[in-house]
Order: sequence, then structure tokens, then C-alpha cells
Amino acid sequence: MLMNKNYNRYFKASTQIKLNEQTIFGTVNIVQQGEFPENINFNNILKKLEIIVPEHFIQNLDGIYVGDYDFLLKRDLNALYKDGVIYVMPEQDDEQDVYEDIVHEIAHCVEETYGMDIYEDGKIEEEFLRKRRALLDILKAYGYNEVSDAAYGNTEYNKKFDEFLYLMVGYPTLTQLTPNLFVSPYGATSLREYFANCFEEYFARRQYDHVKKISPAVFEKIELLLGIN
Ligand SMILES: [Zn+2]
Repeated sequence: MLMNKNYNRYFKASTQIKLNEQTIFGTVNIVQQGEFPENINFNNILKKLEIIVPEHFIQNLDGIYVGDYDFLLKRDLNALYKDGVIYVMPEQDDEQDVYEDIVHEIAHCVEETYGMDIYEDGKIEEEFLRKRRALLDILKAYGYNEVSDAAYGNTEYNKKFDEFLYLMVGYPTLTQLTPNLFVSPYGATSLREYFANCFEEYFARRQYDHVKKISPAVFEKIELLLGIN
């Protein structure tokens, strides 16, 4: 037991030492505390971020940390934005997955900086709730009654609702039943995830027309944010 603990401490210390100190945009610290699989070149991802993401979007982003963090493992998350830092798990399928995860978390950072510009007029919320009502009609018609009707009207993240969509209905079924409702099923999770999901589709997959067609209110706000300097 003690041996293991000591070994872990040594291992952690040695990986810390290996850190290649690096920044992107001149201000965002890159801290690598875990190794990506061989097929993922993190530098390629970082270069792409610098090209695609406008600099004013990351003004509150202090760092991107890569590692097997307990708080990600416990919640079964691939990435998380918290207090100015994006945490990413290194064990992912390919470069595009990691890139999309980071862009998604940048959306949450942007929400923090430009929350008023994004949400104050209520247009995105209105669009989101309209989609949730359509979702309710469709899922009830197919016999999915595991959550209350009121749950569809809640814009906040709710674990039970998330699990209902992800585990009970399942994303492949959701995609089939609601092809033109959300850019991808995760967008149905909450208002903030609705925004981040569209942001990811726009900046990581560059499907501008898709966002414009499915979620015009979010598209409009993204265009507005691009114009802020
Ligand atoms: Zn998110």
C-alpha cells in the first residue's frame, strides 16, 4: 500500500517535471499532466485553436490542462471548463475528438464573458424551449414517459433529464426521431449545452449553414460575438 502510494507520488512528480511549458495566444498556459495516445498530436490541436478561435473569446481562459483528473473520471466527462481552466482527458479516439471537446469548453468560457450579449434578450432561451416542446411531443408519441412534462421546460442542467436522453432514449434514437431539432442530441441537455453544442458545430466542425438552419437564434448571436472586439 505504502509502496504504491509512494510510487504514485513519484510518478506524479516525474510527470510534472516533464511538463513542456507552453502557451497559446500568448496568455493561455498549456499544462500536460497526462499522455495522449500516439495518434493524437496535441501541438496540431493547439495550432488549430490559435487559427480558428478569435482571440477575444479566450480573454478569461487561463489554461488548458491535460490529465486523468478525478473530477472528470468520477463524472465520466471528457472535458470540463471551470474557473478559467479547461481540463481535458487524454484518452480519446482521435485529434478531432480532443479538438471538438476543447472548442466546446471554450463556448462555456465565452458564455461567462459574454453572458449578457448571449442570453439577455431571451431569444436563445425561446428557441431552446420551443425545441424542447417539440421534443416532448415526439418522445411522448413514441412512448417515452420516464420524465415529467415539466422537466422539458427546465433550462438548467438536470442529471435525471440528461440520463433520460442519453441512456433511456439514447442518442442514436434521438438523432433519428428529431433530425432537424438540434445540431446534435447533446444540444437538448440544457440551455447552456444548447449554446455550446451550436458553438462547437460552428467553430470545430465549421458547419455554419447547419447552425443557421437548425438554430438561427444561436447563429445570430455567434455572428454578433464575432463582431465584438
Ligand atoms: Zn458543455
